Amino acid sequence: MPELPEVETVRRKLAPLLEGRRFDRVAIADPRLTRPEEPEEVARELEGERVSSLERRGKYLIVRFESGRALLIHLRMTGSLRHGGAGTLPDDPYRRAVVRLDDGSDVAFRDVRRFGTWLLLEPGELDPYLDARVGGEPLADGFRARDLAARLTGRKAPVKAAILDQRTVAGVGNIYADEALWRARIHPLTPAAALELDEVKALHRAIRAALQRGIARRGSTLRDYALPDGESGAMQHEFKVYGRAGEPCERCGTPIDKTRVAGRGTWYCPACQRYRA
Ligand SMILES: [Zn+2]
Repeated sequence: MPELPEVETVRRKLAPLLEGRRFDRVAIADPRLTRPEEPEEVARELEGERVSSLERRGKYLIVRFESGRALLIHLRMTGSLRHGGAGTLPDDPYRRAVVRLDDGSDVAFRDVRRFGTWLLLEPGELDPYLDARVGGEPLADGFRARDLAARLTGRKAPVKAAILDQRTVAGVGNIYADEALWRARIHPLTPAAALELDEVKALHRAIRAALQRGIARRGSTLRDYALPDGESGAMQHEFKVYGRAGEPCERCGTPIDKTRVAGRGTWYCPACQRYRA
């Protein structure tokens, strides 16, 4: 599933192509994308809207329009966006929506598993919607270790489950949670409330470092994630633990182990990341 680095990579690529452009024609082929709203109705509402900016919050892409409305896009498991000149995008059985922009180019939404969502919000609806679902932006200047500490205090859940909660820290998913915990030398099953202040500080640094590395490598392509030009990310070649069961830890040589936390496959180094309750 695309996480913060993947969504931010898409945003950076698409922003200069979308900003200032008008949605001329919109076709939405999949009712699951917009439900409970009718896809034809959402498409009609989007036509004529002019993009003021393309932003990101956690794993959400936010297309802000000059009208004050916003289109909130969540890629979920397998969603991706492609951009190409008019009629140049290859045929794709998994295409769920296409937007023709006023410069003649197309932006297409592809989604194999069909969990992705498009939600059109009226002026004033965006902030309350996001505030109820998404916590601090980990790469924002204002996100401090003490903010993370405040979100973890009193939580008996394993620290990995706590940081997968989007209200703890926005945009961290299964891959970057494992990578951050390895960097911070914290066992993923450690109860969040049991972390010492030094460990929270290390985790805060590690989350930011793992995400920044992911952005620098333009995200990780395991299966479906691709950039708007069809290129792949490269972060999958640099994972420290994710998906590396049995391979040596690059810090200590111990084979990476795999377990499950909060129902998710979880990779860690049993020597560098010791369990303590
Ligand atoms: Zn190790």
